Amino acid sequence: MNLVLEEKVALVTGAGRGIGRQIALTLAECGADVILNYHGSKEAAKETEKAVKEFGRRAFLYPCDVSDSDAVKKMIEESTKEFGKIDILVNNAGITRDNLLMRMSEEEFDAVMDINLKGTFHCIRHIARQMIRQKSGRIISISSVSGVLGNAGQANYCASKAGIIGLTKSAAREFASRGITVNAVAPGFIDTEMTAVLSKEVQEDILNRIPMKQFGRVEDIAQMVAFLASDAARYITGQVISVDGGMAM
Ligand code: NAP
Repeated sequence: MNLVLEEKVALVTGAGRGIGRQIALTLAECGADVILNYHGSKEAAKETEKAVKEFGRRAFLYPCDVSDSDAVKKMIEESTKEFGKIDILVNNAGITRDNLLMRMSEEEFDAVMDINLKGTFHCIRHIARQMIRQKSGRIISISSVSGVLGNAGQANYCASKAGIIGLTKSAAREFASRGITVNAVAPGFIDTEMTAVLSKEVQEDILNRIPMKQFGRVEDIAQMVAFLASDAARYITGQVISVDGGMAM
């Protein structure tokens, strides 16, 4: 299997911490230079930058709110100027604002849609032109098992993650003849700050719903992303790959 990403340039959103950080490190380990987008976590992003450089790869830190279309456009233009190209886009940035539907405010709904779904849309839209020009590209977006199955208390989050699936399949159809593959990874429950805030009872309830009876690790997601970014996945597009210990089977 050829997972080598030497001479590839990847842009990872939300790369300072959690799953995004590990995706950046795994891509760097496979040989890619990495543009590390972050929003609030500057110190964490600097740590990721240091770790990428330890693999002997180039790293470029770029602060930007992915829900801001103009800022995303500028990030992609300036990153392309810095590296000459971007081969791999990983849409990882995401937030939760959990609440029961009857109590959910419009602000809670919009905040999640703006970052998770519109942020992914902005990144894909602004990077597509140069990928079409270079006749190659890999776009990988992080959806969720919640977007596949739905989840009580997460109507906004599930809608955004299901939206990423529709966006992925549509983009895959539009770009398939241009040498660009577009896929999504749907993680189950992964041990990060996002899941650490859940109460012990909720965590136990989730554990009971996972056939493999364990939470996933950030490495489980990062390795799937690296595979989809590699030549080994050249004939795969428009797919949603579940990495969830069997939750969504
Ligand atoms: P996390 O630890 O809470 O990290 C979230 C990341 O998103 C941070 O790097 C954060 O960057 C970034 N981010 C948030 N708002 C942003 C914005 N406006 N612009 C740019 N970046 C922004 O979460 P995680 O668990 O690593 O999750 C990563 C992705 O996996 C998310 O899309 C999440 O929905 C998805 N996912 C996670 C799980 C899980 O169980 N953990 C399961 C399924 C799917 P800053 O800190 O710099 O703001």
